[in-house]
Amino acid sequence: MTDRIQALRLEGMKRFGFGPDVMKQTKVCRVCGGTADAAQRYCSDCGAELPRETLFDLYKSHHLSCTKCGTVVASTSAYCPECGTRLARRTPRPLRREVG
Ligand SMILES: [Zn+2]
Ligand SMILES: [Zn+2]
Repeated sequence: MTDRIQALRLEGMKRFGFGPDVMKQTKVCRVCGGTADAAQRYCSDCGAELPRETLFDLYKSHHLSCTKCGTVVASTSAYCPECGTRLARRTPRPLRREVG
């Protein structure tokens, strides 16, 4: 269950206080879970090809974000706290939310 490991890792990073700017410059290796610079194409730990998505992209894909300015907002928000854009209550992709 590498997804779970990755989720835990992301959770840990949030606790360490990684802001959006740091997250935009960080990638996580899907194979070993190590972190890498966004400019890197291959993991320096295991040599696996790194995903194109940065941590910020992953984070956004798991949360609702403003279509105009990209700010990540709470799923219960009707308006963006940054620019006031009305947020559409639609999920771009059907995500499986079952835990297991
Ligand atoms: Zn790796
Ligand atoms: Zn916005």
